[in-house]
Amino acid sequence: MASATPMAAGGLGDNAARLVKTPSCGNNFFMPKPNSYRPFQPDPAQVALIPEISGNAINGLGESAPRRPRLVYWAPDPDTIPHGAMQRWFYKVNPDHPALVRAREQRAQMASETMPEVTGAPVQRVPEDWNAALAALPEDRQFGASDDRLFDMWGVAQMDPHWVYEGQTVTQSRIIMLGFAHDYAEIETAPEPEAGAEVVKQYGRAMRAAKRVAGWLRLQGWDAEPLTGPMTSKVMMIPPAIACGFGELGKHGSIINQEFGSSFRLSAVLTDAPFAPTPKRCFNVDSFCESCRVCENACPPEAIAPYKQTVRGVEKWYVDFDRCLPFFNQTFGCAICISACPWSRPGVGFNLAAKLARRSERTTS
Ligand code: SF4
Ligand code: SF4
Repeated sequence: MASATPMAAGGLGDNAARLVKTPSCGNNFFMPKPNSYRPFQPDPAQVALIPEISGNAINGLGESAPRRPRLVYWAPDPDTIPHGAMQRWFYKVNPDHPALVRAREQRAQMASETMPEVTGAPVQRVPEDWNAALAALPEDRQFGASDDRLFDMWGVAQMDPHWVYEGQTVTQSRIIMLGFAHDYAEIETAPEPEAGAEVVKQYGRAMRAAKRVAGWLRLQGWDAEPLTGPMTSKVMMIPPAIACGFGELGKHGSIINQEFGSSFRLSAVLTDAPFAPTPKRCFNVDSFCESCRVCENACPPEAIAPYKQTVRGVEKWYVDFDRCLPFFNQTFGCAICISACPWSRPGVGFNLAAKLARRSERTTS
């Protein structure tokens, strides 16, 4: 974790000192390549809002004991988190950009969709039939418009209390995960506002799908609660998405899979309807990330570390929250790392996974 080093603050103030990267042991291997967005100078108005506590400390960076996560950002009520003033500042960036205005309007329309109450006795199906019925929803005209599928990925995980934020309670036994692919032509414009608008658009789809899947379950007598990223407020999205087979964690802190790389968003539905958990998928992304440095080099504030770190008792790839956030905020969601990731380029993921499989066969034979 970057510590406050006043010598490096460069006039940004003490709280901003942690944004400045400390040279890493004189080892040039870890020095990222030049980048047209560096050096990044955060807006002083935003710097003034940085709280005393590091977001990395809230996330549990360096903690060796497992614990439940704490909400660090995207709080439904920003006043309840230390970085809430920065969250409010985010909404002031480019408020009149046409692409953002349009995407927000679409999302607001989806947010206004009402949901049915739980109706009748619970329909009984075997778990595999529940999964098959869920998988068929995007083809159902009642749920998925022909030009805008209800969802692009789905999976189911048995609920794990370690995914639930401190102070929150989840009683349901299953979490249905839903995935929504970005239009790559839009996301590759990152960090331009068009990429931010594409993210808002996909979160709008994510909200619509989570509500409609939850409504579909309620009408079959099963209670169901929709959760939409990024403001899930209750449950971390990435761990259950990995558990249900959406892919593996990449060095840039997002999931990678063969179908969409990292270019997708998530939502979820909590329920007790007895869906069958879907299997985790592993295709050795770890070994790929160990020798790839694309996202490290692309990240303007150098927030992506070249090595894994311990977070709440687990060794994993971790993005420095304090360094990422100001650039993320200033560019309405950044998204450079997910668009630069080679796996995100359409049509590339399956070939990369096949190459990894062949490499693994060679080394084990
Ligand atoms: S989203 Fe954050 S980690 Fe990713 S490139 Fe942007 S600043 Fe870096
Ligand atoms: S850009 Fe390379 S190192 Fe970064 S997440 Fe993607 S594959 Fe891994």
